[in-house]
Amino acid sequence: MHIMLKGILSKLGLSDDNTSQLEAQKESIAMSGLKVYNSLTKKKEKFTPLQKGLVGMYVCGPTVYSDVHLGNIRTFISFDVIYRYLKYSGYKVRYVRNITDVGHLVGDLDTGEDKIAERAKLENLEPMEVVQKYANGFHEMMSIFNVSPPSIEPRATGHIIEQIEMVQKILDNKLAYVKNGSVYFDTIKFNKKYKSYGQLSGRVIEELFSETRELKNQNEKKNPADFAIWMKADERHLMKWNSPWSVGFPGWHLECSAMSTKYLGEKFDIHGGGNDLKFPHHENEVAQNMGACGCTPAQYWLHSNMLLMNGKKMSKSDGNTITAEQLFSGESEHVSKGYSPMVIRFFLMQAHYRSTIDLSDEALSAAEKGYRKVIEANRFLQSIKAVTETTINEIDTKVNQTIASVYDELDDDFNTPKALARIFELVPVINSFKDGKEEFKNLSQSTIANLQKCFSEVLFDIFGLQDEYESGSNNLSASLDGVMQLVLELRQQARANKDWATSDKIRDTLAKENIVIKDGKDGSSWSLN
Ligand code: AMP
Ligand code: ZN
Repeated sequence: MHIMLKGILSKLGLSDDNTSQLEAQKESIAMSGLKVYNSLTKKKEKFTPLQKGLVGMYVCGPTVYSDVHLGNIRTFISFDVIYRYLKYSGYKVRYVRNITDVGHLVGDLDTGEDKIAERAKLENLEPMEVVQKYANGFHEMMSIFNVSPPSIEPRATGHIIEQIEMVQKILDNKLAYVKNGSVYFDTIKFNKKYKSYGQLSGRVIEELFSETRELKNQNEKKNPADFAIWMKADERHLMKWNSPWSVGFPGWHLECSAMSTKYLGEKFDIHGGGNDLKFPHHENEVAQNMGACGCTPAQYWLHSNMLLMNGKKMSKSDGNTITAEQLFSGESEHVSKGYSPMVIRFFLMQAHYRSTIDLSDEALSAAEKGYRKVIEANRFLQSIKAVTETTINEIDTKVNQTIASVYDELDDDFNTPKALARIFELVPVINSFKDGKEEFKNLSQSTIANLQKCFSEVLFDIFGLQDEYESGSNNLSASLDGVMQLVLELRQQARANKDWATSDKIRDTLAKENIVIKDGKDGSSWSLN
């Protein structure tokens, strides 16, 4: 439970017992309500985790070989909202989001060069310098967009032993074979045993098996659909490790199988990622996990949809990208002005995570207006202290029904656009109350409290928005610091001129304002008392 909430509860004289009762209540609400669309069964299903009250969720993280673009950011924001809603619903969530720092090859097949190694050569850096540089950039972006950090953020290179062990298990189960130091997953044998290769991505298995690709390594495979789980490295290869089969490196798909198993177990609740990862990445993950332990890893597969720009998928390889910095500054042919991180986050909330959303100047400009409207309404709403309790009338009932429907929409596969539409039905109610309109003047105290709770929970806790006008207070402290530097400089000059009267006057006046000056070897500094 939120520490602040706990504090408030104890101030209200509510014991831990009450708190756990509340938790239990929340849990039971959550257990009954949430439905998620499962890509594996292609159905919307009631969400029931394996262990009551606990959720294990794995989401494929970025390959850190270049700056993240807004498309990548959309995916991580989509899963952030899912993570936040699960937590809000009372679940204890272990959220694992990896960092891919080896094995993801150009072209996503077994043939291209490692994306990170290629970038290391290009930038004349160590591969781990590339990884650090772009992982730092990724984290910075996540923080700018207020994306919560995961519970665990494992890196592939930190789990080579686990990956080797998993390859060995698949070999022991006779679902892989070794060829010239590389290990390939045997899709034909796997499919004979489980009859499920292609189920997640909806690929037609016969087509996959008959595909002929004139590519390097294909002649080592028994079947074109087979894929490498361990690859022998050639001499020029930068990142390689000893293994029973060769000095080499793990396949990209294998790392997620090994890391999800390590931190969430052989069976867990949710596996997520962008829907462009369904094939081959996720299809192969399922096959590897089944190949190693005989069970499907995740109960629910959640796939988020793509961010488009000009109707086309935003993608690095097609050059159809815009960076977050370009959007903030407006320095891009695609926008007429800059947009703030929270306007962009709000814009993304306007689409369901399973739908595409097209980024355009017009759409962002409309989102800016919407964001301002809802944030301003919320600011007024939260400032209402107390109204005289009145009887519950028709308007209260209607408002409370709309509030309940906001949560119903979120329970329906995290439907943020519909929840937002319901929130917007409530904005005129708040504004009419503000304007003292007759119909709304008598809103009851409990309805107002419900509205306050709903707006604050949905906008901030679940959608992860922030009131950017409020963080204007940051600007204020930046300006105060600027002014204080000037004051310190003037005082320094006075001291240099032995003008003790002025220097003391500055110090005493500031002290009255609770600002303390400290004189040290390296000059003076200030702090608030
Ligand atoms: P990558 O770093 O290429 O492995 O991608 C990281 C994540 O971003 C993956 O989950 C992708 O599905 C996702 N992604 C890539 N392009 C887009 C896009 N245009 N819109 C939404 N998600 C994307
Ligand atoms: Zn993955």
